[in-house]
This record gives sequence, structure tokens and C-alpha cells, in this order.
Amino acid sequence: MCGIVGIIGQGRDVGYDLYEAMLTLQHRGQDAAGIATFDGILHLKKGIGLVQQVFNRKNLSRLRGPVGIGQARYPTIGRGSPEDSQPFYVNYPYGVAMVHNGNVINFFALKEELQKVHRRQLNSSSDVEAILNVFADELVHKDSSAFSADDLFDAVGGVFRRVQGAYSVVAMLGDGSLLAFRDPLGIRPLVMGRKETMTAFASETVTFDFLGFENLGDVSAGEAVHVSTDGRITRRQISEPNHHPCIFEWVYFARPDSVIDGIGVLEARRRLGKTLAKRCREAGIEPDMVVPVPDTGRPAALALTEATGWRLSEGLIRNRYIQRTFIMPTQTKRRSSVRQKFNPVRSELAGRKVLLVDDTIVRGNTSLELIKLVRQAGPSKVYYAVYGSTLRSPCIYGIDMATRDEFIAKDHPEEEIERLIGADRLIYQTYDDMVAAVAGGRKMNFCTACFSGKYPTPVTDADLDRIAAERNSAKPYPRT
Ligand code: SF4
Repeated sequence: MCGIVGIIGQGRDVGYDLYEAMLTLQHRGQDAAGIATFDGILHLKKGIGLVQQVFNRKNLSRLRGPVGIGQARYPTIGRGSPEDSQPFYVNYPYGVAMVHNGNVINFFALKEELQKVHRRQLNSSSDVEAILNVFADELVHKDSSAFSADDLFDAVGGVFRRVQGAYSVVAMLGDGSLLAFRDPLGIRPLVMGRKETMTAFASETVTFDFLGFENLGDVSAGEAVHVSTDGRITRRQISEPNHHPCIFEWVYFARPDSVIDGIGVLEARRRLGKTLAKRCREAGIEPDMVVPVPDTGRPAALALTEATGWRLSEGLIRNRYIQRTFIMPTQTKRRSSVRQKFNPVRSELAGRKVLLVDDTIVRGNTSLELIKLVRQAGPSKVYYAVYGSTLRSPCIYGIDMATRDEFIAKDHPEEEIERLIGADRLIYQTYDDMVAAVAGGRKMNFCTACFSGKYPTPVTDADLDRIAAERNSAKPYPRT
């Protein structure tokens, strides 16, 4: 999972706008950050770390030009090294720089084909380099001496045919124009905005709120959008959409103040809380208070208390300066960070029956640590309710949550998980309630593979084993 952005305007530099945009998308990736701009020559700065660690006044002042792209990275395939940081660029044909959000399933096959058949040397283990080279390879076969939108759209069609997986992409072209596209499954989000003569693309609408852009809506699954240097927008449906947006965006990943594919994330989480209230009632628990696991659990917990009349308490305080646990690349970091990240409030919790509301349980480590931590504050009972249903299968589309054997729900029934995480009572949302709550009455065809095991692309057990092996062999880049 990553956050991507692209901005094009006229007559003013967009480097600082891109920087600010990436701050709004920092929750989507905290591993590396990069920006490329163009004013006749390419300006590029990228590195390991948070957006504010990579950029400063001096290097931002070098990012000149009225067009640019940026990315905050969360690694899936690859070592997470500086070489894998985005944007990537190729000089030929014309010059193209690119960022993406997603995961290419046939990355290794593509890399081999590009090197052996098309003599294109790939220098990283980042899958956007494969998308970029496929796109460049498709463009090479055009005769024209300059870009035409038709050529670009044809090349995107070639990418759709050759690249499997999930990818939302923004590319900056050597004539100073901008191109965005979303794969035919539309698994990863991509929205488009406008302010005066400026056009922008971003992973989430929160970026537009912050920059003062009007939200023009989503780039459709299988669609490409080209914005010329004079601001002309050309849209084309390249491939028949087979839209399967990732349900996990609403459950966990996206910011609550974003709207994805027409569904507000905050509203979806409130509906999830309301349906979870029903499950809690059925379970027969009577907590003295409902405590959200901050920050993701807050909207659902609030809606749950509104539905039940139970008291909401901020009995668990989060240290804002610790990274999201889910996104941390190693198990050791994930475990220790729970204690760094939360502090239970003894005066609120001692002697009381506490219902914790969280988003999901993956391996169970975070839940176990969290419940242990809360018990230190002396509650009489700790109930644990999750508004996502049981996670059982790995994501192959860009969220590195776990490999197949790591999911606690894979081999354990709910009562066993309850015991393993040390809860007095564990309450899961049902799968059907989760899907209905996120859809909110819309007809949606979500990707729910990590919950249901039903992948929207063909996937074999051998594929899952290979992906697990690749992930296990991918050592996070050591930070100094
Ligand atoms: S497998 Fe899960 S996390 Fe991955 S894209 Fe599908 S719903 Fe999202």
C-alpha cells in the first residue's frame, strides 16, 4: 500500500504542493518518499523515511516546474531499499517518470521477459519499474515523434494486457503532461481533483480537501486520463471495468475523512460500528464502557455506543508519534511498538468491564499485547470486538498483512482465538454484515479476498507459496 499524487498546473512550481499532498497520504506508507518535477529537465529527490525526514526547504526548492508526481511508499515486494524508492524514470522513449500504488502479481515473469526479450535492464525490485518499462516498451512501437493522447492510451492498453495485479499509476511525461490510470479491477483507489487551472490525482480525497481542490471523483477501473500542459483533460475507458475495490481501505487503511468510489470512509466505519453493536447485544455482554483502539477504532466505537447507549471512554491513549503497527515491516517491531504506542488510563479502566473496539485481527500479536496492556490498568473484564470479519488469506494486491500460515483465524475457531489473545469475550463482525455495512446500500463488488479467500484474479496455491517465499526473503532495509 502506498500513497501517490500527481499535480499539473501552469506558470507556478508544484514541488511544495506535492510535499503537502504527501503529508496527507503519509498513513499509506512510512517507509520511503519521493518527488519528481519537470521544467524542461527532470528534478528528483527520494529517500528512506517519512515525508518530513526526506524533504527539507533546501531540496524542495530544487523541485521546480509546473508538473510533478510523488509517492509515500509501503513496501510489498522488494527489500525496501533506497533503490526501490519511487518515482522511477526512463529516458526512452520521450522520458517518462512514474509512481504507483498496488502490487504486480507477475512481477518476476515480467522482469525476466523485459530483460531477455526486450533488453530492458531493471535495476530494482520495485514493481513500478516493471510497469514503467512495459509502458515504455509499448510506446516505443509508436512512430510519432511526439506524444499523442491516442499513443499514450494505446500504451496503457498494453500495460493492462501484460501487467497482472493491482495498480493505480500516475506518470509524468517528457512533454510536461500528466497521465493517470487505474487497472481494470480498480482495486487500489485513485481520485482526480481540480483547482482553477490545476489538475491533480491522488490516492485519497483528503489530499484535495487539504490543498483546496474540488474532488472530480474517481478514475474508473480500466480508465486512463491525460492532462496536457495547457490543462486539457482527455479521459478514455481503455479496458472493460471489472471493478473490485479493496474493502480493507474502508475497514482499516484509508483516512476516515476520505471518500473512495463514492463511499465515505467515516460513514462506512460508523455503519460497521452499528452492525457490530448488534453482535455485541447478541453476545449478551454488558460493558461499563466502550474503549476504541485509537485511531482506526474510534468511528465504529462511537457508532456502537450510540446504538447501545453504552458509555464511550478514551481509556486508551495513543502516542501519535509512533508509526502504525500494521505497516511496520518486521514482527519484532510490530510486537514492541504496541507498548510504545498505547497507554491505558487507570482511573477510567480500573474495576470496570471494558469493551475494546478494534478494526481487525491478523496474527493476534497486537491484540494479545494490547489486552495485556489494558489489564495492567485493572479492569474487571476485557471484551474485544472487531468490526472487520475474520482475516484468513494473504493479500496479493499490495497490503502485506501476513502470509498464509500466519493468520490466527486460519487454524483457530473464534473461541480458541479468544483464549489465545487473552480476552474474556471476543466478538467478530460477520462477513455479510461487514460487506453490507461498507457498501451502505450501494451495489458493490468488493475485493474481499483476505476475508473470503475469493481472489478477483486467478491465483493458485503455488502462487501464494511463491509470494510468501518472496516476502519472507525480502529483508527490510536497515536504517541508520
Ligand atoms: S485481499 Fe484484502 S487487503 Fe488485499 S486488496 Fe483484497 S480486500 Fe484489500
